[in-house]
Amino acid sequence: MAEKEVEFYGNAKNYWETIPPTIDGMLGGFPEVSTVDVKTSLAFLRPFLTTHGGNTPNNRALDCGAGIGRVTKYLLTSLFNQVDMVELNQTFLNQAQSYLGDRKNKVDRYICSGLQDFVPESGRYNVIWCQWVLGHLTDEDFVAFFTRCKAAIVPGGLIVIKENVTSEERDFDQIDSSYTRPMSEMISLIKRSGLKIIKTKKQEGLPPGLFAVYMFAMK
Ligand code: SAH
Repeated sequence: MAEKEVEFYGNAKNYWETIPPTIDGMLGGFPEVSTVDVKTSLAFLRPFLTTHGGNTPNNRALDCGAGIGRVTKYLLTSLFNQVDMVELNQTFLNQAQSYLGDRKNKVDRYICSGLQDFVPESGRYNVIWCQWVLGHLTDEDFVAFFTRCKAAIVPGGLIVIKENVTSEERDFDQIDSSYTRPMSEMISLIKRSGLKIIKTKKQEGLPPGLFAVYMFAMK
């Protein structure tokens, strides 16, 4: 790996090690965003599921960059029988054990790995959910990761991205070592991954001053 990349990934890892394993930590000091975030995600994902008239079965989902399991707890375990979590920081996965409460019964695998190194098991998932983590991947690793994800979803499966999007040029945050990409770059990376966007939606109801947040469902 090039020295620049070692630094890019190393700085992010170090940053997250300084962050407390709480909702406030997961949401960068905006814990109040969680309720409206989850509500909108539920409304976005539900219609795809066989349980709600769609054609995506609800056996198993993967939560990418899962943190302490906020998305797993409120979104994925409410819709799927089993959920796996993949997360860079072991402290967050440890905290998930108590944070998830009885939802823990539905969590199968806790995988400690960077997405850049992670190979999701082939044909294992109905839905792969990636939220507020992809800015931590280089363009090349983004494309390589989603190419692997494509092989990990079963027929009728979906990959969902929920990320900040900038209306200007790509923005680099030196503090947490992540990019915020403009819409055009997100779309071009998704295409390069061999995925097709089938639904997008903007997250409404966020406090002013935050980046715009978009959801993309892809096949
Ligand atoms: N998706 C969760 C957590 C968001 S915080 C939620 O919405 O609540 C971002 C998370 O991404 C942190 O838990 C951080 O440790 C993790 N992360 C950062 N870089 C990562 C990488 N390269 N691979 C996997 N996870 C990463």
